[in-house]
Amino acid sequence: MNMDWKYERNVLLAGLLGVCLLGLLLGYAAWFGLVFMLVYTLFQFHRLQQLYDWAQKADIDNVPFELGLFGQLAQHLFRVKKQRLARRESAKAQRERFKKLVDVYPDGVVILSAKNEIQWMNERALGLLGLQKADRGKIIDQLLRHPRLNKVLQLGAETAVVVESPALESNWAIEKVEVRALPYGDDARLLLVRDVTRLERASQVRKDFISNASHELRTPLTVMKGYVEMLLASTSSADKPVSHSLQKVDQQVLKMQTMIDELLQLSKLDEGGVDNSTAVIKVHDLFEQLEDEFQALAKAKSLVLAFDLSEKLALTGNKNSLLTVLRNLIGNALHYTEAKGEVRISCRLNDRAEAVLAVKDTGRGISARHLARLTERFYRVPENNVMNKAGTGLGLAIVKHELERHEGELQIKSSVGEGSLFQCVLPATRVVRKN
Ligand code: ADP
Repeated sequence: MNMDWKYERNVLLAGLLGVCLLGLLLGYAAWFGLVFMLVYTLFQFHRLQQLYDWAQKADIDNVPFELGLFGQLAQHLFRVKKQRLARRESAKAQRERFKKLVDVYPDGVVILSAKNEIQWMNERALGLLGLQKADRGKIIDQLLRHPRLNKVLQLGAETAVVVESPALESNWAIEKVEVRALPYGDDARLLLVRDVTRLERASQVRKDFISNASHELRTPLTVMKGYVEMLLASTSSADKPVSHSLQKVDQQVLKMQTMIDELLQLSKLDEGGVDNSTAVIKVHDLFEQLEDEFQALAKAKSLVLAFDLSEKLALTGNKNSLLTVLRNLIGNALHYTEAKGEVRISCRLNDRAEAVLAVKDTGRGISARHLARLTERFYRVPENNVMNKAGTGLGLAIVKHELERHEGELQIKSSVGEGSLFQCVLPATRVVRKN
């Protein structure tokens, strides 16, 4: 902005000249000039103060000056104030729009600061989390004391967790809520809360049905198996068609028994929480036991089965659970790898000090489109099934649940024709020592 100081200069010179002339007539030209300059300077300070006061005010009307340098400054400040006001109005309108949108949103939304302070929340969040409007500004983990919920808040897990509703005491209709924490802005987070009571009830009904049906089927199947075995024993080997048919029935009954056992195992896992056992399991010992169990099968299939025992780790957890996990993975690797292939089992610590138990095979691999669904109950890869007709599709579901019970996860990498890598990642808190 180019300052037009000519007006000020002209006023000053004209005033000074006029006063000095008057002073000359009265014989005090210098005094008159001096007093004029003093008054002029004080007057300019006063105008400056006026300009400053106006600049501080929120209203943009009543611009104090129009002419000269001060007029120019006032005009400039007027434009800046107008722009700022327009920006503020637009931000306010946007905020209002966002609030209206989020208020009609059927799920709860909470904006959290980096320190987990509640910055804002919609009405629905109040009801779902059992909070009150006055809780704004408070630390959310101190209001909602729920271990799983607090874990989501600390880690900011983007995957949703289902927890018992913190509002259950005041509202019995909401039993379960699903909570998800998403990054929001620079370091804030958005907590999305959804009522999943009906979904969870439906899922519980399904689980109960499977569990009850499995229990009911167990006894008739045991009876059937007994009779088939008895008939098989009493059928002469000369009667090949009958004994062949009985063997087929026996195999199918066995498959059904395995399935029932696995379904019951899954039901148990659904009920149970996190494994809190402090028993120390030496991975080395697990590997030795599994080598004894599987080496014969590997040899029979002309496969190399190698256990890498170089890293000696110990973990806390349930030994039988970890054996189940590894048995399933090694069993699968042996089943789905052709003769002359290799299955390698190893254990190491990753860069986050988590324990990684890996089962790697050189089998036919799994196409990427199946990977995300492998741990679903009964999910089997159609193109691989020819190789293991006895499978139930429940093994990896059990593996996933057992690992979850140990706060771990199953990671699967595979590509068709190149084999598969199944990794069980267990948290650093479960690693006991490295000896
Ligand atoms: P199943 O009893 O059928 O083996 P799982 O749940 O253990 O059930 O495995 C699910 C499916 O994943 C299997 O049917 C198989 O198609 C595929 N699968 C599992 N492990 C492997 C592997 N190591 N190589 C190739 N495919 C595998």
